Amino acid sequence: MAYDQNNIFAKILRGEIPCAKVFENDHVLAFNDIAAKAPVHVLIIPKGAYISFADFSQNASEEEIVSLNRAIGEIARAKGIVETGYRVISNHSEHARQEVPHYHVHLLGGKDLGGCFN
Ligand code: C5P
Repeated sequence: MAYDQNNIFAKILRGEIPCAKVFENDHVLAFNDIAAKAPVHVLIIPKGAYISFADFSQNASEEEIVSLNRAIGEIARAKGIVETGYRVISNHSEHARQEVPHYHVHLLGGKDLGGCFN
């Protein structure tokens, strides 16, 4: 499967569609999910063209991988949800119902998220 340059997050990265940005560095952009499922629901994405976790974990540089993971922790600290807890999720492909084919991590918190992943 080839990377789709017209997916919605690629358009956000190119500035063609706005987003509510919460974090940015050389490798990473993070913004509020448009349909937030918790008081904190941030999407953390690499700037590189990776389809999903499977692609990113295999093909991204160590610098990109470290940068993205550190960004998740930094945003959680900035949002004040470390003490109360949070969830980090990434959906890969069909069985996980991935909707947007650009790798992204969901950071959810700010309430009791329950014992399942919904
Ligand atoms: O992991 P999955 O691909 O299913 O999640 C995609 C997420 O992207 C959804 O939570 C959706 O609300 C979010 N989204 C967004 N802004 C858009 C389009 C989708 O935050 N313009």
